[in-house]
Amino acid sequence: MSPEKTTIVDKTASSQEASMINAQNKYLDNISNSNIGSLIKYFSKEYNLTNFEDICGIPIAPELIPDKFDSEIMLSSEVTDKYNRLVEAINHSESAKEYPFLLLGEIIPGTTDSVVFYDLIPCCRDDYKPESTSVNYDSAILLDSANLYNVIAIGHTHPLLDESETCDVFTSKIKESDKEKFNIKQAGLNVSTQDIYQSFFVQEQLKNNKILECVIMYNGDLILIDMDGDELSKYPSIYGYSDNEVKISVPTFVNK
Ligand SMILES: [Zn+2]
Repeated sequence: MSPEKTTIVDKTASSQEASMINAQNKYLDNISNSNIGSLIKYFSKEYNLTNFEDICGIPIAPELIPDKFDSEIMLSSEVTDKYNRLVEAINHSESAKEYPFLLLGEIIPGTTDSVVFYDLIPCCRDDYKPESTSVNYDSAILLDSANLYNVIAIGHTHPLLDESETCDVFTSKIKESDKEKFNIKQAGLNVSTQDIYQSFFVQEQLKNNKILECVIMYNGDLILIDMDGDELSKYPSIYGYSDNEVKISVPTFVNK
């Protein structure tokens, strides 16, 4: 069940930098050719976004990402319980933070892309700052997990923020007409181009694993995105198990 052991190549700082820039360029290429490519091109031009960081701030309404057909996600009762607790936490001001985590699972036998997730674990570097908008994942935890599980979703939460905290988010600078045109929602209920890059970057490093992107939004939506080359898709059906092992439907964008 576990993939070949992932080896970490000892890299010098300059070669690390080079591989990061390579990954960024490849990502921009792929996302520009994906089914949301026209949105990326429109915002880059209209708001004069030229560097990688700026382009990464572009919000994407989850419904613009096509559904992955004939695939579903199952969450163990343990994962369902942790998901419920995270949703609770990000709706209270004292604990409304961007929590980084990993979902660990396997492809369901007999399917191509359906996944069962067995565990949800926190994953952040020691220097994690809750108020920071970018998340640093702990690479040691990531590599250990990759040796044990075939499928890893790189996840984080989108907490409910108050007005003062959302004012510097790019979403608040977008013209109303553009928000309508692209169905952009209030901050926290979109995924960003940066969110998808996180899983893309990890997939570039861990070729033997299937890497997905996961966002848990404060309204309870659980979004799971697969980026395969320049093809983006999201899982339309997610199920979990309650404490007494009853199968329940977990909200994701398409359930609305
Ligand atoms: Zn995010």
